[in-house]
Amino acid sequence: MKCSRCKAPAVVSLPSHHSAFCEACYLDFFTKQVEKGIRKQKLFTHEDRILVALSGGKDSLALVYELQLQGYNVTGLHIDLGIPSSSAPARNSTEAFCTKHNIPLLVKEMEKEGLAIPMVKERLRRPVCSACGKIKRHFFNKIALEEGFTVLATGHNLDDEIARLFSNTIRWDIPYLGDQGPALEADDEHGGFIRKVKPLWRLSEWETANYAFLRGIENHYASCPYSKGASFTFHKQVWATIENHMPGRKIDFYQGFLERGQPLFAQASEKQSDPLHPCQRCGFPTSAGVCGVCRIREALAEGQ
Ligand code: SF4
Ligand SMILES: [Zn+2]
Ligand SMILES: [Zn+2]
Repeated sequence: MKCSRCKAPAVVSLPSHHSAFCEACYLDFFTKQVEKGIRKQKLFTHEDRILVALSGGKDSLALVYELQLQGYNVTGLHIDLGIPSSSAPARNSTEAFCTKHNIPLLVKEMEKEGLAIPMVKERLRRPVCSACGKIKRHFFNKIALEEGFTVLATGHNLDDEIARLFSNTIRWDIPYLGDQGPALEADDEHGGFIRKVKPLWRLSEWETANYAFLRGIENHYASCPYSKGASFTFHKQVWATIENHMPGRKIDFYQGFLERGQPLFAQASEKQSDPLHPCQRCGFPTSAGVCGVCRIREALAEGQ
């Protein structure tokens, strides 16, 4: 197999783009896809201060590496969840990576916040992922605003976005569909939501994994012991079958949604969603009187 651009031996085959690439052309292809994703959705500019959420996995590390290469002003943020078997390797690999590549890094420890995930799991006595997700989103937002960043970037890729879109669609969740996309605007009016962006939205998991491999991005990622049965895994499998039969359908479906579906759902959800206002305890925006994280703190205090 030869590179579709320069005819050197190819190392990566991409059926969805009807192409194969040698190493140099593949890295260039990846860069161009990220550039295009940023430009098409007007995600940010070189003037922005970008906080990149770093889990320690290859997607977020590949993202911060590529953005730094493109000359953006990036800082990493790692949330240490305090999970014995997975948090230490995730934090170590994030810290080592950022030191090696001279990327400034902030680390927030949930244990110090009284929100170590194993303890939350034990006390709440229900599946912990939803609480964990709320906690992470809360601190991403809080730290981004407090430290004066203008945008928060996450390493979600096309497969993550498609799985989420599929899940929102089969439930016809209008507010979620109205909010879904590579950019979620800031909301200063209701106590403060940072602008959130997903610059890898045009690239699949496979494409990002190849990039990470070719760039020598090492991650010693141990999967979370509570991740069994994560809801999106099945949706990703369904979409792998569709893409296999119809290469290119994933990106077409997602772009079609952004152009023709999302604006309609956004309009409809304005009528449906509950208004936001500052949380009575912490001041961050919520549609209830007290936000999800403050309610978790209250439930933990009651369970003591
Ligand atoms: S799988 Fe683990 S890290 Fe992910 S949301 Fe669930 S508890 Fe949190
Ligand atoms: Zn080539
Ligand atoms: Zn709150």
